[in-house]
Amino acid sequence: MSTSKKFSPKQHFSLIMRGIRLYRAFPKPVMLSVSLSAILDAAVPFINIYFAAQVLNELAGARSMERLILLVILTIGLNLGCVLIQRAISRWEAYCNNKSFDAAYKILSDKALSMDYCDIEDASIMDDYSQIRHNQWFTGYGLLKLTGPVKEMIQGLIRIVMAIALAFTLFTFQVPYGLPYTWLDSPWIMVAVLLIFAGPVLLTPYLNLLGGKVWVEDLEKEKKANNFFNHYFFDMHRDNISAKDIRIYDQQRIIKAQLAKSQEWDWRNNQTWAKSMKGEAKFVATGVAIAHICNGVLFLYVALKALAGAFGVGSLILYVGALTQFGMGISAVMTAFGKLYNNNPFLAKWFDFLDIPNKMQQGDMKVGDSSKYEIEFRNVSFIYPKSDEYVLKNISIKFKTGERHAIVGENGSGKTTFVKLLCRLYDPTEGDILLNDIDIKEYDYNEYMAIFGIVFQDFGLLPFTLGQNVATCIDYDDERVGKSLDSAGFSERLTTMKNGLETYLYKRFEEDGVEISGGEAQKIALARAIYRDAPFIILDEPTATLDPIAEYEVYSKMNEIAGKKTAVFVSHRLSSCRFCDDIIVFHEGMVIQRGNHDYLLENENGKYYELWNAQAQYYQV
Ligand code: ADP
Repeated sequence: MSTSKKFSPKQHFSLIMRGIRLYRAFPKPVMLSVSLSAILDAAVPFINIYFAAQVLNELAGARSMERLILLVILTIGLNLGCVLIQRAISRWEAYCNNKSFDAAYKILSDKALSMDYCDIEDASIMDDYSQIRHNQWFTGYGLLKLTGPVKEMIQGLIRIVMAIALAFTLFTFQVPYGLPYTWLDSPWIMVAVLLIFAGPVLLTPYLNLLGGKVWVEDLEKEKKANNFFNHYFFDMHRDNISAKDIRIYDQQRIIKAQLAKSQEWDWRNNQTWAKSMKGEAKFVATGVAIAHICNGVLFLYVALKALAGAFGVGSLILYVGALTQFGMGISAVMTAFGKLYNNNPFLAKWFDFLDIPNKMQQGDMKVGDSSKYEIEFRNVSFIYPKSDEYVLKNISIKFKTGERHAIVGENGSGKTTFVKLLCRLYDPTEGDILLNDIDIKEYDYNEYMAIFGIVFQDFGLLPFTLGQNVATCIDYDDERVGKSLDSAGFSERLTTMKNGLETYLYKRFEEDGVEISGGEAQKIALARAIYRDAPFIILDEPTATLDPIAEYEVYSKMNEIAGKKTAVFVSHRLSSCRFCDDIIVFHEGMVIQRGNHDYLLENENGKYYELWNAQAQYYQV
């Protein structure tokens, strides 16, 4: 579904109902508070209408003092009681509404966090995600838009029902026989009055829809500008990785130029807003005018009937009040209907995003405890989504338990992609990957993932405590975390941290958090992989940011770190892979050589020989 799609009435209804149901996941009962508030807001005016009419009828009729006092006391008491309850409920409603922002954004971010990795890398999905947040935040369209119209709808319906109940007797009071106004009771006039009643009911929704449609179309047109706006104002200037380059290369210039361009977009955007608002106002104003004219005619009808003596002044007040409320009710229902209708394309975007399936999470087989974890790539080829080039071509490799493998090759030869397939961040385009002879798709995704301890080349640490980063949980085993950090060569640095494992990494959440160097971060990431104690340990350029001494330390401990695990080292530094018995050479997405260091060096025309000598020459005197 998209904003340009047309929905059937049934689809419209189910979108709204699904949206309302989603509010159940909110921590506060937003819809309940809104409904109660709406019921009170709509019902209270009727107390005054009803009692004012009773008082006037009493004054014009029997004039009983006792009854008058009772009516006045009841009016004041009910008003007072309702106002107090109204105040309390509207405070509660405001509190619930306030909390709903967090809840709605949590629904989105929970989804984003649990999505398949390949979808996170999909620019169009991320564009839609950004658009959903932008629309919700800046224009209000989306899930959170529902509360307003739902409230208006409830208010409107209550007004209509109560007004009809009060005005029911309008047609039963007849103009006394023989007076010149008896034509007011003719069936034709009654039909005309009913049509005038129905006029706004039929026209206002149509005009409201036309008004709101302008927004839907215009917001879709400004998608690009909105995305840039979000990125510039919310992300780019806070990103301290780019901050260095921005300063050194004076990238402010290019950002300012882009911003100027975006302001041009934004200017267009403003124009679109102005146009949308004007367009909307035109339709809404016409609707309001029609509703008021119809109401005016109805008032005239009531006044004429009163003039003709069909009923007294009290009933006149009652009918006038009921008609006013009826008009307001119709207009509220129709406005709400229009808003809900126009919000639906935005709501559909939410559901499109929330419904993106977790394709990876289809299997349910347990990996279980096993002493054997053999993984086999069988004729695996891979093309990245939305690309048409093979990044891996016909790879067949088997990893046996406890072996040490190295994957080497030039940049862009497909090493990291191979690792992404190995740990199932992507599925192969062709061929199969098997764990203990069973297709890895058959296994429960999280269980399969758990057999790997990985350090990616572009790993990420979170701005939480050191211990939490290593253990990836809140309550961790201090001793085990300490040992893992020690194996990763971080123990010396740990002694300088006054809060030890409780030290916050980075200063984003804690002022006394520590800024760590790239090499230190890499050691922590390595400790995290060690802590997991999984059957496979995979290190993608694990020492890229380490100094030579630290690199030497890590590699000399590699056997200890890997223990009985199957280890896969990915590196373009061939010297660091020498200790592996099985070196796999990747080139342009294919495995072109395989063997141990000495065997591979024998082939002087081979890629390994070329890569080895290219690096070795800088170390030879
Ligand atoms: P290596 O790890 O050997 O340097 P990679 O596996 O990272 O190589 O990349 C192999 C090829 O795949 C490169 O040409 C790269 O541009 C391409 N590539 C990597 N990631 C993506 C992606 N997410 N989408 C499309 N192409 C990608």
